Amino acid sequence: MKKPLRGGILLILSFFSILTLVACGAGDQQKRYSRDFFELFDTVSRVIVYAESEEVFEDQADFIGERLTYYHELYNAFEAYEGVHNVYSLNQNAGGQPLEVDEALMDLLEFGKEVYYDTEGRVNIALGPVTFIWNDYRTRFQGREDSELPPMDLLQEAARHTDIESLVLDRERGTALLTDPEARLDVGAIAKGYAAQRVADEARAYGAQHLLMSLGGNVVALGGKFDEKGQEEPWQVGVQNPDLDSEEVLTPSLKLRDLSLVSSGDYERFYGHEGEIYAHIIDPDTLMPPRQFKDVTILAEDSGWADAYSTALFIMSLEEGRAFIEARGAEALWVLMDGSLEYSKAFRSYE
Ligand code: AMP
Ligand code: MG
Repeated sequence: MKKPLRGGILLILSFFSILTLVACGAGDQQKRYSRDFFELFDTVSRVIVYAESEEVFEDQADFIGERLTYYHELYNAFEAYEGVHNVYSLNQNAGGQPLEVDEALMDLLEFGKEVYYDTEGRVNIALGPVTFIWNDYRTRFQGREDSELPPMDLLQEAARHTDIESLVLDRERGTALLTDPEARLDVGAIAKGYAAQRVADEARAYGAQHLLMSLGGNVVALGGKFDEKGQEEPWQVGVQNPDLDSEEVLTPSLKLRDLSLVSSGDYERFYGHEGEIYAHIIDPDTLMPPRQFKDVTILAEDSGWADAYSTALFIMSLEEGRAFIEARGAEALWVLMDGSLEYSKAFRSYE
């Protein structure tokens, strides 16, 4: 179940050492600092900030850490935390009475419904009964010779309990309920990106104007970074090669400013059966992992949407995905099974 530490995106750390003073210009007094966070969202997070002093940075990083921890607990589907109703509580409470939830959880669940309608049900946070079966099989058979796939009748029975409308939200009362006792939420396709965007926005309001944050495969860039002359320039981020043994990054680094970069890949969580790879994204129509792409990477202004789109495009055909992403003013890079690359119209203008 643990995601490999390298995540989907490789940060190109083409910067100077933490204590290098930037000489002059707009970046006067701005130094680069970074902190890593472990055990959040089942992945490794890194935050890089340009700040005027270590003290200022430490305070900002503490704030970011607290916020990441808050969302990690609230959006967690697998663990209960004291004093908070989270996704896990909603799953445990399915078929019961409406549960009071924090506004930030209400926001995520409403966003999840919006994503469902926008992707015509391809990204469905109520797909839990099906995705949890796949999770169980992956956990049981990962790395084993005698692997098995979930029986189709088991998946089909589970799919009867994946109606998004069984999630009933009452914003006025501040309550949420899964009305079907067998329904389960899996927010894995959107929660990291959605949380990353919220934390980045909160960090900016807190004073971090030049920030690069990576939650596993979800990257958010705020403002730019500073070069050695103190001039502001875009952050530079490379896309991780889906072939993890390869030393090469997939593309020249991409220039990001107030932009998010999110990848969904078949190399993140998967298991093998009879020589085929079965990834962690499930097509709700077939109840099976699609096997068209090794990786889909999205460039979009909002990281929540970028996360939703990367999962959606992983399920759509290339043609459908092109039309979909173009209509939404975002960019995409597809890695096909043979390793060849396909780009949306303006993706390469960020290289
Ligand atoms: P991502 O890595 O953002 O593409 O999200 C993949 C995760 O979302 C999986 O690990 C599952 O927990 C969940 N998931 C898989 N398929 C779907 C789907 N069709 N709709 C919603 N969530 C899904
Ligand atoms: Mg996603």
